[in-house]
Amino acid sequence: MDPVSIRAQWCKGCGICVAFCPKKALRLENEKAVHNPELCILCGMCELYCPDLAVTVDKSQKKPQATREVANES
Ligand code: SF4
Ligand code: SF4
Repeated sequence: MDPVSIRAQWCKGCGICVAFCPKKALRLENEKAVHNPELCILCGMCELYCPDLAVTVDKSQKKPQATREVANES
């Protein structure tokens, strides 16, 4: 299930969430926000900035970040 849910009936298609998404995981289609979970990092910016409270981000589904490997360290 997509952790970012957009209530289409509340979305006014203003594009604010699209502008604030750092991963370009949102786009407008027929004046409604549409989410692409493949690109999303669950940062929550869209939920924070939507003036119509149309977006909910379920951060509990956030995957832990991969540990960076430190190579060639002596
Ligand atoms: S949670 Fe962050 S990355 Fe995901 S759609 Fe919202 S703003 Fe974009
Ligand atoms: S900020 Fe809210 S109202 Fe505006 S396009 Fe995004 S989901 Fe829709």
